[in-house]
Amino acid sequence: MNLWVGLVSLFPEMATAIASAGILGRAIQRDEMGFEVFNPRNHAVDRRRTVDDRPYGGGPGMVMMAEPLLGAIGEARQRAPSPPRVIYLSPQGAKLDQSHVERLSQLPSLVLIAGRYEGIDERVIESAVDEELSIGDYILSGGELPAMVLVDALCRLLPGALNNEESIQTESLLDGLLEYPQYTRPEQVGPLKVPAVLLGGDHGAIRGWRRAEALLRTWLRRPDLLASRALSDADSALLQAGLRRQSHAGSRWPDGGGNEGE
Ligand code: SAM
Repeated sequence: MNLWVGLVSLFPEMATAIASAGILGRAIQRDEMGFEVFNPRNHAVDRRRTVDDRPYGGGPGMVMMAEPLLGAIGEARQRAPSPPRVIYLSPQGAKLDQSHVERLSQLPSLVLIAGRYEGIDERVIESAVDEELSIGDYILSGGELPAMVLVDALCRLLPGALNNEESIQTESLLDGLLEYPQYTRPEQVGPLKVPAVLLGGDHGAIRGWRRAEALLRTWLRRPDLLASRALSDADSALLQAGLRRQSHAGSRWPDGGGNEGE
């Protein structure tokens, strides 16, 4: 097993549904990733198995109580094959990106905490959480989906999880660029044709076209990604050529296939 993840959640069924399908489901089935859910309700300290209460000082909604959460985190720590890093999924955390995923995929064990209601008692964060991560500047009703977003992204980086190792290498953001456009059969959909360069079998030309498209796409859609890196001379030339072609023709590849720089 390359990575073990324990999820602390009041709604285990949400997580297990996601964890049973697709690449993630296969990785868990093959024991490439361990995944277990720990329900704070099983650690409630009263007969009614209460897990939430009103906030001190007043205000709307309920807060997840510290004791059931700490109990579930403790249970997860005991099940983890090595001392885990504990992460609370929270809109107040650092914004999750691929570099966080890469860093965390190197660790052997993680415990993820999914909050509900108005959030969790601050003393859980103070005493048991190593890191807070947000999946974006919007508020969800629970941390299960954010936790499973992270688990899914982690799973894709585990050795052997993907059948085609190469798709990891070309994926958007892995080398700081968005991925080039993809096409599959048929060659024509209505008036829209597959760029000719992709049909020609010239692998050098295809590589050049894809690199140019990735650069151009990143420049147009996510210039912030390019601002933080220095482009090689070859990449600059590809990007400039792509931009020129676009401004002249109003279309990026008027002949259906460029081949600059190769
Ligand atoms: N009142 C909290 C606040 O303002 O920080 C938000 C509580 S939210 C309704 C309930 C739970 O959903 C949170 O405890 C957290 O686990 C999860 N959550 C909501 N939005 C999230 C986001 N953008 N990223 C990660 N987790 C989120």
